[in-house]
Amino acid sequence: MNAEIIAIGSELLLGETIDTNSAYLAQQLTAYGINVFRKSVVGDNEERIATAIAEVLDRADLVICTGGLGPTVDDVTREAVARAFGRSLEFHQYLLDQIEARFRAFGRTMSDTNRRQAYAPQGARIVENPKGTAPSFIVEDTRGTVVVLPGVPREMRYLWEHAIAPYLRNERGETSVILVRTLHAAGRGESVIGEIIADLMAQHNPTVGISAKQARYELRIGAKATSREAAEAMIDQVEATIRERLGDSLVGEEQINQTVLHLLQEHNLTLALHEGTNRAPVYRTLATVDNSTPLHCIEIHTPTISLDDNTVQEAAQVCATNVRERYNAAIGLGVQIATSSGADGFTTVAVAVVHGDNVRVWTQRFDLSLAEGWEFIGTLALDSLRKYILEVHPKG
Ligand code: AMP
Ligand code: MG
Repeated sequence: MNAEIIAIGSELLLGETIDTNSAYLAQQLTAYGINVFRKSVVGDNEERIATAIAEVLDRADLVICTGGLGPTVDDVTREAVARAFGRSLEFHQYLLDQIEARFRAFGRTMSDTNRRQAYAPQGARIVENPKGTAPSFIVEDTRGTVVVLPGVPREMRYLWEHAIAPYLRNERGETSVILVRTLHAAGRGESVIGEIIADLMAQHNPTVGISAKQARYELRIGAKATSREAAEAMIDQVEATIRERLGDSLVGEEQINQTVLHLLQEHNLTLALHEGTNRAPVYRTLATVDNSTPLHCIEIHTPTISLDDNTVQEAAQVCATNVRERYNAAIGLGVQIATSSGADGFTTVAVAVVHGDNVRVWTQRFDLSLAEGWEFIGTLALDSLRKYILEVHPKG
């Protein structure tokens, strides 16, 4: 079975509201083994919605619509679906009773406009909505099936989980599963990683995809099978190959910031951080993780002397040593940036890890005129720290 998603709402079309429902639905459909071939967004216009549905019905077996089921006159999905199927709208008293009861439960009186929500296309199968006022429905004919879900993300997810997914599984016999596992990597260029796994990326099942973000990489392994166990076994096999080929560039199933904090915790290591720039690139990535208890302190201090490519390394080491002692932490991590960039526009960055008598210093050059350049510094520092911890505490 193949599906398409239509998100309905002028606010989505104009970019005022981000269409998160389509992303959720695509993930869910994929997980149920249903291929998603296209997604579209249509504004609140009955004719254009009806045309979009009719066009998609020609291509796909299943059309999932979300949005435009509200009580106000700008919500016209009901009318549009009826039009796409050449049917009229049918009134359901029991739906109106339910909507009215919901208002009463909240101590409010239902307004007349809510009456619209008690209508559905003739012959549609009604999906009641205990989480809101907009009932949902399914319409089928020889061309295919249209599932219509409300736009409010919470209600949409609830109905998907409790009504639509069971319908697809039990009545449409959609029993295959697609699982996706994400692995994180760092410390090598995208083209290098791409080359190492090129043959895996050319496969169709399991599929392997890569997306890069500031020297951090997400490798997605997806497998389609008739059971969850079978899909997992297929993914395990590819994961083992990737781990072997990437070696210590493979961070694991967690992102690098989480991984570093977990490694510190696991080995009872506390961290003191000194950043030689008030953009604090390392702290910024660490701060996005909920559990940052190993981080004892962070010191931000822009150097008062100029640092060139040679002195920047020493400065990183000195500040790592000082911050570690001052805050009595196990590890001091120091980041310093050369005061001026080279003729090529790149700037030297030094990262130092100080742990007792152990001192490690890494340098790398980045284009800091780009906003992402600063994020590269966070990746470099955390990846250096990760590699250092693995060196002194090898796994297994
Ligand atoms: P509607 O069902 O069109 O009345 O939308 C109800 C609420 O859900 C509005 O606040 C919409 O902005 C929001 N909404 C509708 N569709 C989506 C979508 N695809 N993704 C995220 N929010 C949505
Ligand atoms: Mg709307």
